[in-house]
Parts: sequence; structure tokens; C-alpha cells
Amino acid sequence: MTVKTTVFGYPRIGPQRELKKALEHYWSGKISQRELIEEAEKLIINNANTIALHGIDIIPSNEFSLYDFILDLSFMFNVIPKRFKKIEDPLERYFAIARGSADAPASEMTKWFNTNYHYIVPEIESDTEFELRENKALKEFELLKNNLNLKTKPVIVGPFTYLYCAKVKNYTYFSDSIVSVYRRLLKELEESDVEEVQIDEPAMVLELDNDVQTIINCYRKITTGLSKIKVYVQTYYESLSQYEKIVYELPVHGIGFDFVEGKENLENILKFGFPEDKTLIAGVVSGRDPWKTDFKEALKLIETLTKFTKHIILSNSCPLMHLPVTVKNESLPEEILRLLSFANERLEELTILKTAINEGKEPPEQNLSMKFTNPEVQKKISQIDENALCRKPSFSERYEKQMEILKLPLFPTTTIGSFPQTAELRKVRADYKAGRISFEEYESFINNEIKRAIEIQHDIGLDVLVHGEFERTDMVEFFAEKLQGFAITKNGWVQSYGSRCVRPPIIYGDVWREKPLTLKETLYAQSLTEKPVKGILTGPVTILQWSYQRKDISKKEVAYQIALALKEEVIELEKAGIKIIQIDEPAFREGMPLKKAKVDEYFDWAIKSFKIVISAVKPETQIHTHMCYSEFNDIIDKIYAMDADVISIEASRSKGEILKAFERFKYDRGIGIGIYDIHSPRIPSVQEMIEIVKRSIKFIDKRLFWINPDCGLKTRAWQEAIPALKNMVKVAEIMRKEV
Ligand code: GLN
Ligand code: ZN
Repeated sequence: MTVKTTVFGYPRIGPQRELKKALEHYWSGKISQRELIEEAEKLIINNANTIALHGIDIIPSNEFSLYDFILDLSFMFNVIPKRFKKIEDPLERYFAIARGSADAPASEMTKWFNTNYHYIVPEIESDTEFELRENKALKEFELLKNNLNLKTKPVIVGPFTYLYCAKVKNYTYFSDSIVSVYRRLLKELEESDVEEVQIDEPAMVLELDNDVQTIINCYRKITTGLSKIKVYVQTYYESLSQYEKIVYELPVHGIGFDFVEGKENLENILKFGFPEDKTLIAGVVSGRDPWKTDFKEALKLIETLTKFTKHIILSNSCPLMHLPVTVKNESLPEEILRLLSFANERLEELTILKTAINEGKEPPEQNLSMKFTNPEVQKKISQIDENALCRKPSFSERYEKQMEILKLPLFPTTTIGSFPQTAELRKVRADYKAGRISFEEYESFINNEIKRAIEIQHDIGLDVLVHGEFERTDMVEFFAEKLQGFAITKNGWVQSYGSRCVRPPIIYGDVWREKPLTLKETLYAQSLTEKPVKGILTGPVTILQWSYQRKDISKKEVAYQIALALKEEVIELEKAGIKIIQIDEPAFREGMPLKKAKVDEYFDWAIKSFKIVISAVKPETQIHTHMCYSEFNDIIDKIYAMDADVISIEASRSKGEILKAFERFKYDRGIGIGIYDIHSPRIPSVQEMIEIVKRSIKFIDKRLFWINPDCGLKTRAWQEAIPALKNMVKVAEIMRKEV
């Protein structure tokens, strides 16, 4: 028996973040549209070439995107919100939907399944007419055919997942317009000599309930009339739901499974078999964790699969975009480096596995054991009394005391933590890291930034100040650098959204705090003002979620280790006189498992890890948390259970849905509903912000209501942040007079 290999979701940002640079140059007017497109085409060709050179048999295409692949689909299907229709230039219109324009706010952005990738939510209205405006998949197919002489496999997100992303609950859409655009799309591909196409349906791992028959019918319709083209449906991030029905009845040539995160996929195959006439795409190398594939285990798995089918294509488990491009050029300690495998190394692994099967060639010997433990950390973990994690006294008593001490007015104003990170600041940080400037020079620069930020906040008239986070490149990386048990890469970038990339740290051993993390900058800022300065930490779930995790212990245990380290920091901040401490948990929702059966267990340890951080503080110390860019509507009870005194939460992009959820829940703790969207360069008006406040205080006690933007301001320029915040402070002043 012989197998082939394919991959999908290869990182599109380029080995040196070429996409980021090109986009930012285009947005700032440094390069033309033509130059941007040329750079994009270069990347498309290079990426396909890299994949081909590593010996992969079936090369994917239509994987590139100038901002987001879901937005690309909306654009292809002419799902364009009305407020952008007047923008003539298509590319300008495309970026306006993603980023907002002078007079139209951007579309909502949210997290792609349980990952840290963000997509632009399609706005499907009752009168939306789907039409195939342009065939991007075909364009990329032809680009690669002409330039590399390769016949590639276009990859397209499928109708079920697209509608799921658009939050369409009523799948009658399947019956008409969306079916016809997908059918047209596939037909055009077939007529243009495309031989195979991959349709991604990660939403098929969610509980499908009654949708399953609708999905099968939809696929019957979209594949009617196709003769030669092979359609593969790819699932990932978990195991396929309703395995038996879908596998046997979905009218497609093959189905792809994630065997890394979807452990039940194998169980299902063992139980229900696999249809003879279909191809099984076996996702055996991880698209999400950075650890080398264990060849022995993978070969054993493939051998088991061969008992059920002769048609197997080896692949990655889920999109490779969650990994950096390559481990080459990383200068980590050898004992860690030897364990790692990023996107290009996954390509190598697939080729090794293929040769092992097809030619009987033994894969190289591996030593993958990882033991970086600290007995003291393990002792502390074993001493945690989960039932004692409780703040006393009750919230209302605590809050009253806190507000008395803090002397805050009604509708206190604050920000989320970070202030603009200028090019100069980035350069100074890089110079310091590279040893080009001394610690003293670096420190005095940061202190000056803090000082300036405090002055600006005074001038704007904010009530609770922050130091500005100038010393932090990234809210997770900063902590990972200071804590033990983390490794930091030099060039391990992955796309978070649009041009924004992050470098997830790698947790390889027990985590502990050797030295203070945030004390110096926070205390310096507090020394400059009488107003309270809020200490800002990143929470345990977010640090865990935005890092690569070790595989030898549970997520819960790692989260507890991080929580214990943060708890030490919180106590020291409190001792040093800091009265408000914010623990950011923007990834709290993102970490939620995709399968309902696993959700409770997750929230149990996620909430407890937050409580480990905060439960030892005095009643007078006010604990804030912050969350953004996820759907929080259905987890308000979990947020409440974290027992923070104040939460600031993103709301401006989700158009009031979250407000209704808080109303239904009768939320009665401190809350700052983000009243403007900091991800857009647009300056919000006083009036539009007042409306959000007024809507909110209909059901939230005004004494609990805080006024703040919806996230940190690090990506904005000062000339955008200052006028926006001044308007925001005006809102508070007007509201104080009105109520
Ligand atoms: N404190 C962080 C900041 O202001 C929070 C960022 C986030 O929520 N993503 O940048
Ligand atoms: Zn945020």
C-alpha cells in the first residue's frame, strides 16, 4: 500500500513577516496597491514552492489572504455590509470592512474556534444576495500553474462553517443562495482543470444535533453536476461529530480528520469502520503544538488506519498557520530545540512518514522525553485547597470599602492598560535586547514614557491611571520572559489578525516566579500621582492559552503553576500600596473546549486558577479583570464566578448583544462595557458613546458602571488615543450631571 501527502493552512505571513510589512507600508501610503499585490503574489508562490520542495505531493492553494480568509469568502460572495458599498475601490473597501473607515465602523472581529486567530464576522442580512463576484480560488490556482507549473488543490472554507462564522442560526440559507454560489465556485474550478479541492468544515466537530441532515443535503446540492473534480471535506480542532452518518452519507471523495486533538476520531473508525469508496485524510502531524511528532506512534496509528481503508493521504491535523514557519535560525538551548517542529519541519515529518510507509525506510531515532521539573512547585500545587479559594467579605461589602478608599466619582474613567507604542519605543526596546544600549539608558527611556503617560492621563482627566505597559512587547511574552519554565523564540511569529502577529512562548517545564514581574514600573508610576494607578497583569488562563503548552502534564496543572506565580506578584503589589490590580483574561473564553462534554471541567479549573491569583488579597484591594474579542454571551455565569470586583469587557463591535446578555443575567458587580473600539483608527463621538452608556445603565446599577475603551491602546497613535479619551471623559462628565 502507498500513501500520498498533502498539507493545508501553511503560514501566510512569510518567513520574515513580509505580509505584515507590506500591509503596513500600504496602509501608511508608502507603497502602491500594485506593489502590495506583487508582494502578495511573491508570497503565494514562495509558500507553494517551499511546500513542493519538501516533497509534499498535493500542494494547497487559495490559502493566502491579505487580511482574513473568512472576509475573503464574504468578498467573493458579495456579502458586503451596506455601509461600505459606496467605497469604489475594491481593495479599499476590503480593508475598510476589516479596519473601519472614517464614517463606517469595521465589521465585528472574533476568534476562530478555540484558537487565537481572529476572523471578520460576515454580516448576512435578510436581503443579502449571495453571488460569485470573483473566483479568488481560481486566480491563485492559475497563478501557481503559470509560475511553478503546479496543479494545486484550492482550499475553501465550506458553507456550514461559513454560516456558523456568520452566526446564522437558521440553516434554511442552505437551501438557496449559498448553495448556488458554492456550486458555481466548484463548477468553475472543475471547468478550469482543477482536479481536487479541499473544503474546510471545522464546524462539523461541534455538536451538530439536527443540522446533520441539512448539511448532507447541502453537499448533495453543491456537488450535483460535478464529474471529475475530487472534493475533500476537512475537519479539525476536535473529532468529527455524528461520525457514522457523515462519513457514510456525505457525497464527497474524501474526509479529513484531526488525529492529534480529536482522539475520538480513531475510536469512531474502530467502531464504525470507514467507507471503501472514500479517501481518508489522516491529520497525523500537529498544526498547533510545536513538539516533534513521535514517528513510532504516528506509524502505529497509520498502520491501524490501513486496516480500514486503502486510500490514505497523510496530512497535518489542523491549519499549520498556528505554527511559526521554521525552527531553523532559532537559538534556543539544545535540550529544548531538539524537541521542536514548526511548519516547515512538519513538511519534513510528513515526507519521512510517507517514505517509511511507501519504501519501508526506518524513520530516524528520536528521544522526545522532557523533564524540566521543580519539586518545590509541585509541592505548592499539591497544597492548594481548591475549596478555600474564596474572597471575603461579599462583593457589595468589599466594593463599598474600596470605593470609599479610592474616592472615585460616579462613572469612574479608566483605560485597559497599554498606551501607544511608538516606533521610537520599539526601537529602544530592540536596541536594549540586542545589547546596543545599556540597562540605564533603557530604564530611563521607559521611565520617561511612564512619566509622560501619567501627565497625559492627568491632562485628559482620567480617574484611574495606568503606567502604560511600555516595557512590554506583548502581554504574554513579557511575563513568559520573566517567569521560569518558558522559552522565547526569536522569529516564531504567528498571525493573530490582519497584520498583527504574536510570538507564542513555549512552556517546557514547571513555571515559577524567581523575581518581581511588574513591580518596578507600577510603583514608579504610582510615585508620580495621587490618583490610583492600576497594576496590570496577564491572567493564568491567557498566559497558558497564548503559549505553546507542554504535553506531559495537564493544562490545569500548568494553569495552577502560573497562577501561583502571579499570586506572589499580586501580594507584593498590594504590600507596596497598589490599590487596584487588573488581571487580564482575554483568552478565558477561547480556551473553552469545542465539545460540550468537556466544557464544565475546563471552566472549573479556569475559574479556580483565577481565584488562586486573587483570593489572598485584602478586601480593600480592588481586583479588575478584562476580556475581549470573544463571544461572552453564554458564559456570563462563569465570568461572574471568577469573583472580580470590576470587569472591563469588549462590546463596541458586537453591537449590543453582550448588553442583552448582561441584562438577562442581572449582572451586579463593577463593570466597564468598552464604549469604543480601539482597533479602529476612527475617533468615536461623545454622542455615540453616551448612547451605549445610557443603554447599559437601564439594567446595570449606575454605581457599578465604569467608563473605558474596549481594549488596550498599544496599536493606536497618540493623536488618535488622546482625542478619543478626551471624548470618553466628556461622556462621564455629562453622565454625572444627568443622573
Ligand atoms: N492590558 C492589556 C493592554 O491594554 C490588555 C490587552 C488585551 O486585552 N488584549 O494592552
Ligand atoms: Zn482587550
